[in-house]
Amino acid sequence: MEEKGATMATILDGKAHADRMLEEVRLQVEARLAKGLRAPALAVVLVGEDPASQVYVRNKGAACGRVGIRSLEFRLASDTPQAEVDGLIDRLNADPTVDGILVQLPLPKGLDAKRALHRISPAKDVDGFHPMNQGLLLEGLPGLRPCTPTACMSLLAHHGLALKGLRAVVLGRSEIVGKPMALMLLEQHATVTIAHSRTRDLPAVCREADLLVAAVGQPGLVEGSWVKPGAVVLDVGINRVVDLALGERIFAAEPRKLEVLRTKGAVLCGDVRFGEAMEVASAVTPVPGGVGPLTIAGLLLNTLTACEAQGR
Ligand code: NAP
Repeated sequence: MEEKGATMATILDGKAHADRMLEEVRLQVEARLAKGLRAPALAVVLVGEDPASQVYVRNKGAACGRVGIRSLEFRLASDTPQAEVDGLIDRLNADPTVDGILVQLPLPKGLDAKRALHRISPAKDVDGFHPMNQGLLLEGLPGLRPCTPTACMSLLAHHGLALKGLRAVVLGRSEIVGKPMALMLLEQHATVTIAHSRTRDLPAVCREADLLVAAVGQPGLVEGSWVKPGAVVLDVGINRVVDLALGERIFAAEPRKLEVLRTKGAVLCGDVRFGEAMEVASAVTPVPGGVGPLTIAGLLLNTLTACEAQGR
């Protein structure tokens, strides 16, 4: 835990932990090369021109370069028919020089994301979204697991948080974050509640949490008063706020964020009111610089794992 004010919570530095994870991957790739094996290869399929997706794909490519993983990008026009996307996935599945396949979401209207994700060979499913890998996770067996919760678990382990018997609340029940996060915490013997948009008295449920994981995509939903004193808070949400009235409400304890919103017209924030949570919790991840960088590190770790598991 890297930073601590007098009465404030510790800021859990996701960037620093991502750097540690990436260095570990880099060393393992280097060891493969020293043994005469080839570098692992990750194929990223990007359909359409979604600006956020373009940034994510660029960042993934750069991170691959940093650790010696070969990055292959396949860009398709937004009007590409599903059959063509299927065909590309089939070719990548059959290519023995490709270890991991990632289809960047969201796909443009008219394309079926589930169909694309289910078509990826489970052995190359580095996002961990294939039902086969989700089933392995459910059974507690080894497999490729979703990157964001995997990286969150790695962060918690690094900071030595004892999960056994801990009351954990996971806010959000997506297949990408909420559900797998809950399963991984359960596997480590936490007592887990999954909350969502139909949960009654959400603040009271959150206040029970020794560990609160927020993955809802609602800027500043979690107020400081929802956080149990001394809790650890992981904020997975990444939200771009442009509404000044909303910003004035959720950034009351974060004057710097409000200033950025006023001057630049937009600011990134999580699902938790960071400034308020810092006054109550024992440790909190910031946004940006918390869970975001960890997710890419988790992806590259999965690519290395997929490569080695396929005996290449
Ligand atoms: P998602 O598929 O939209 O799921 C959101 C979940 O939050 C749903 O289960 C939904 O409940 C629940 N929810 C929404 N509004 C709520 C409210 N007002 N009160 C209680 N629950 C509410 O989102 P996701 O893919 O899990 O992503 C969540 C957030 O994490 C997004 O901001 C996303 O950008 C971010 N994210 C970040 C990373 C990273 O690397 N840091 C990775 C993935 C996602 P229902 O099921 O009842 O609708």
